[in-house]
Amino acid sequence: MGSPTSLATVDLMEKTGCFFPDVHNDASKMATLAGTAFDVLGYDAIAPYFSVVQEAAAMGAIMDWGDRARMPAVRPSSDTGLYLYQEPEQVEIPDDFLERLPTRTVLDALRILRRRYGDEVALVGKVFGPWTLAYHLFGLENFLILVLEDPDKLRRILERLSEVTVLFGRAQVEAGADCLTLGDHLTGDLCHADTYRDYLLPVHQRLAGLLPCPVILHICGRSLDRMGHIATSGFAAFHFDSKNDAKRAVEIVNGRIRLAGNVNNPDTLYRGKIDQVDREVAYALEAGVAIIAPECAVPLATNSRSIRRIVEAARCE
Ligand SMILES: [Zn+2]
Repeated sequence: MGSPTSLATVDLMEKTGCFFPDVHNDASKMATLAGTAFDVLGYDAIAPYFSVVQEAAAMGAIMDWGDRARMPAVRPSSDTGLYLYQEPEQVEIPDDFLERLPTRTVLDALRILRRRYGDEVALVGKVFGPWTLAYHLFGLENFLILVLEDPDKLRRILERLSEVTVLFGRAQVEAGADCLTLGDHLTGDLCHADTYRDYLLPVHQRLAGLLPCPVILHICGRSLDRMGHIATSGFAAFHFDSKNDAKRAVEIVNGRIRLAGNVNNPDTLYRGKIDQVDREVAYALEAGVAIIAPECAVPLATNSRSIRRIVEAARCE
């Protein structure tokens, strides 16, 4: 049992005294809050990187670090409305990228957790792929319009930003991560399946060779129409959303990649529907989903009891 994405909730912050937004830039607090996945929730894996912004922040993007009940986010400049970059050639990874506070915090948290838990738990690192990094560093709309207007520029952006993924991913493995979640949100809610096949799949296949550990790809939203392509990425697993039927998903990937997920967040977990947790866990297990977990980072106001219930329900089956 393990979750590829964040299990942090406000009640776990209260239990540990380690609150958002401090945890994002304080390794000791990040490690302690993340440790509740094992200590309190009963999962066998700990994933300390809670948000989606640490790389973008270290690159120099303008941040809104959020608050106790809100995830951080990247913002455009309030003066110019611009994001950090407009052209791929502007992307320069700073020499001290891994020593900057947002990236160093994740690396130090992994080291602390490895010391604290030894080999008792799996440590799950997290990186973002170039598609998601481009949303943060170029702006989502500015980037997506390139699919139609300038595919060559889009490819150059993906190539430059892939280096960030590799650098940060390798550093997390050195710091103690056993595997990496790779978030790269080319979701069916925004992009066509062919866009995944033509632009991102070759990049993912390359990343699968360059990252020295099992990688769990995470894409939220609808993804059934691209799972056949995702199955050929070379990644170890795909973490998918409850918008996709587990049995259909297992059929499509046909043993070529393991599946993880896909318990519903906004209704089942957030509203604490325990019977529904049990039903969804049983359905996913019966379908052949290898790792049962929430579909994505849990909403911060979720009562952690329903997250723990996933483990209990899975053990009963
Ligand atoms: Zn997600």
